[in-house]
Amino acid sequence: MRPIINPRRNSLSSHGSALILPLVATEHGSSTWAEVSPAALANNLSRLQDLAGVPVMAVVKAAGYGHGLANAARAVEAAGAASCAVARVDEALALRRAGISIPVLVLGETPRSLLRQALDQAVSLTVFTRRHLQELAEVLGDALSPATVHLKVDTGMSRLGASPEAAPELLVELSRMKQVEVAGLFTHFACADSPETPSNDMQEHKFRALLEKIGAAGLRPPWVHAANSAAALTRPSARFDLVRCGIALYGIDPSDEVPLPKGFVPALTWKAKLVHVQDLPAGAGVSYGHDYITEHAERVGVVGVGYGDGYRRQPGGELLILGARVPIVGRVCMDQVMVSLDQHPEAQPGDEVVLLGPQGREAIPAEELARRWGTIPYEVLCGISARVPRELLESKRPG
Ligand SMILES: *Cc1c(COP(=O)(O)O)cnc(C)c1O
Repeated sequence: MRPIINPRRNSLSSHGSALILPLVATEHGSSTWAEVSPAALANNLSRLQDLAGVPVMAVVKAAGYGHGLANAARAVEAAGAASCAVARVDEALALRRAGISIPVLVLGETPRSLLRQALDQAVSLTVFTRRHLQELAEVLGDALSPATVHLKVDTGMSRLGASPEAAPELLVELSRMKQVEVAGLFTHFACADSPETPSNDMQEHKFRALLEKIGAAGLRPPWVHAANSAAALTRPSARFDLVRCGIALYGIDPSDEVPLPKGFVPALTWKAKLVHVQDLPAGAGVSYGHDYITEHAERVGVVGVGYGDGYRRQPGGELLILGARVPIVGRVCMDQVMVSLDQHPEAQPGDEVVLLGPQGREAIPAEELARRWGTIPYEVLCGISARVPRELLESKRPG
């Protein structure tokens, strides 16, 4: 698969990792990179739409879960996503700069200093306190376009949101504000990835009670939503008017308890180059601290990726080379890692190495790296550093 040449050059300098745009593949010259398949994203989006039976709001926060903010958003927009969501307003503004024109919702709180810019760019905002309404009222007079807002309700996550008791009054106030369109009302599950947890029923019950109340008062907004990927997959009753999906879109299981059904495809493969091959004598110490010492003459390869790229230092890892697993030997360095090539002496400098994803018949899924690193696949993907260029592959059906 050949990367597309993308004329949009990367500009990381002032915006940091959230705003990764695809680099021209032949230009980055990096010894490690991640390949992103728009076809896999399109495939996963359409599976989710079929399965949920309602529109999908594609969640592309945190640099598209490591896939690149613009990469992910362009792929889902082209594939017909109804809307997308980010955590922070700077991410939403970056999407507009990247030419994304579908609705974008900021799921978190937007600081007053950026409200005006958000409104001018037709970015939808989440509100949940009276202060948010006041701040909105202060900037609305000057803004070019009306505000589109979603009211967030906290039904049990104890993070952001108005209490279900406070929500109806806020809705009334919002409905009285000129130039404000209340497009949505939403909540978020704390334990959707563990479907049997009783709090899921409790949260849905609270949310439904609120919907009944506001429905009777004629205050129900057009878009009511609650489900993330795990809830969209396991809780048909919580799909409401749209589902907000992140992890499933990228082809990754929401949790061990909520595996994806057949037909989803991981969209990202993390690769590196074998940069050097050496034949070491017996008794050679490898890497910092000499944690590994060769027992006999051994062929050892140096791969151009390290913890500075987000590949963790935990010992015991494996990489794929020539379609086979090879063990990491010695400590992972900031920019390099060493592997034993005794079983694959034919490996040459320049060969492609896979850290995450498939190679030939082998694969290292994000779920496996997460288990090894004692975390969740979300953190594995978000942990791939900004210095790892993202290459958008040509659109074709996923293999
Ligand atoms: C991140 C996020 C999502 C998406 O969650 P996934 O588990 O990745 O599907 C949905 N809603 C909110 C409020 C979020 O913060």
